[in-house]
Parts: sequence; C-alpha cells; structure tokens
Amino acid sequence: MSLGGRFCEDVAESRMAFADSDVATSTGDVRTSPFRKAAPGLLGIPGMPSNHNVHDLLECPVCMNLMCPPIHQCPNGHTLCSSCKARVHNCCPTCRNELGNIRCLALEKVAESLDLPCRYQIYGCQDIFPYYSKLKHEKICKYRPYNCPYAGADCSVTGDIQLLMMHLKNDHKVDMHDGCTFNHRYVKSNPQEVDNATWMLTIFNCFGRQFCLHFEAFHIGTAPVYMAFLRFMGDDDEAKQFTYSLEVSGSGRKLIWQGIPRSIRDSHRKVRDSQDGLIIQRNLALFFSGGNRQELKLKVAGRIWKEH
Ligand SMILES: [Zn+2]
Ligand SMILES: [Zn+2]
Ligand SMILES: [Zn+2]
Ligand SMILES: [Zn+2]
Repeated sequence: MSLGGRFCEDVAESRMAFADSDVATSTGDVRTSPFRKAAPGLLGIPGMPSNHNVHDLLECPVCMNLMCPPIHQCPNGHTLCSSCKARVHNCCPTCRNELGNIRCLALEKVAESLDLPCRYQIYGCQDIFPYYSKLKHEKICKYRPYNCPYAGADCSVTGDIQLLMMHLKNDHKVDMHDGCTFNHRYVKSNPQEVDNATWMLTIFNCFGRQFCLHFEAFHIGTAPVYMAFLRFMGDDDEAKQFTYSLEVSGSGRKLIWQGIPRSIRDSHRKVRDSQDGLIIQRNLALFFSGGNRQELKLKVAGRIWKEH
C-alpha cells in the first residue's frame, strides 16, 4: 500500500474514534470536530454542562492521568503519556505495534489552548486554569484530598477531613476525644523492644477541628527514643494558628515541649524524621516510669490553644 493510502486510512480511523466517543451524532465532517464543539463547555462557564471529549482524548489510556508534553503516539495514532511510554517497552498498549518515538504535537497544541476547571471542583475548588497551569495547581490545590493520617500501615485511603474521620473511627478503630486538654498514659511491658516501632494515634476534637496525637518508639541513630507530636487535620496555614504543649512527668522529673501542630499534608514520617515534637530518650522515659525499669509507663499531659 502506498504511503498516501495509509495516511487516508489513518484519518478515517481517527474520525471514527471521534464519532464513537461523541455524545451528539457526528457526521464525521471536519467542521463538527469535537475539538470545536468542546471548547465552550470546557471553558468552564459555571452551570454549563462540559463536553468531555477533548478531556477524554487528553487522558492517558494507561494511567488515566491528563497527559503533558511530550505526548507520544504510536504509528497508528494511539496516544500515551511520557511516563507510561517509559514503562511499556516500546510496545503500544492499545494496538501492540512498535511504539517508536513519535510526538503528538497536534494534541499538545490542543491541550495548550484549553481552560479547564480544577479536578477538585467536586470538593469546592472554583478555579479555572489554562491546561498546564491546572496540572501544577492541582498538586497544591487546598481542596485536594488528604491522605489517611494513620501511620501504622500503608493505607491508601484519601478524602476530605469528614471522610477521613469516619474512616479512622470505623476502619482503624482510633480513639477519639473531645476537649483541648488531655492526659494520656502509654504503657508498654517490654521497653527494650524499640525495634518494632510501636505507634499510637489518638484524635482530639477541639475548636471545631481535629488533631492527631502520635506516639511512637523508634531510633535516632542508635539511640532508642519515644516521641509524641501533634498533627492538624487541615492545611498548613490553619495549623499555624494553633499551639500545643506536651508534658511528660513522673518520679519528680518533668519534660515540657511546646510546638505548632504540623498539617497532615506533611506525612507522619516526615514530621517524625524532622524531630518536631517531644522526644524522650529511653533512659529518661524509664526514670519517668519509676519502678524497676521493666515497664514503660508514661503520663503525657497536653493542651491545645489558639493564638490570637
Ligand atoms: Zn500514562
Ligand atoms: Zn497503537
Ligand atoms: Zn483547585
Ligand atoms: Zn487509613
């Protein structure tokens, strides 16, 4: 078959694909191209139903994310994002042909011309962005879902605070308390066992917001330590409006920490590794525990308040 013949065939093929995914009946005429029809809806005029065809075209068929340049295509025109391209061993995931190294400049140009609403519109974000700024914005959008703050297991649940509260209560059986002062006891029968990092999470409800109190055992270098710290279930700018103190005492000794809760946008591990909390060396913890040093018994008192 001549090169010209193949080219025609490809055009016919892609028109059929458009017609397939088009909600309205399409004649296949270039003037009714979904690109044109889609544009007004995609400008995100509030209340206007948006046409998802262009959006669908820009979705990578493998990872379902919106594609950013370089957008690749196989010789048959199937598109693919660059991170998926690196993973498919030069084989088109749609038609199994050799992928080669073909850019889909037309689609990149189409993407550039679009204004799209933030993908977290359903959570309340009202912003509309040029295509590539949208992707940047979504990484920092304050309406983006939070990760589950539970530290013990790899939990992939994400959502808004309300959903996460239900999830923590029902799925992780986390203790919930009301009030901005607390008294907590941590007891462990074999304090020499720090290796299997023990951790605990308690949720406090105060000022109409939720705070996570983490307690855990781990090593800093070779030194076994216990650490308690607070995370705020919300964004960083709000977290900064609060202050908290933690106090551990016993056998005539007392250690006080005052800090600012960290947002749960910062992972549990990140906060722990930055040592932004009350850190108790094991020997000191055993002094606080009293007795024969065979049992860890820590009394942690805390308070959360709002700075004016
Ligand atoms: Zn992809
Ligand atoms: Zn293909
Ligand atoms: Zn947003
Ligand atoms: Zn979880």
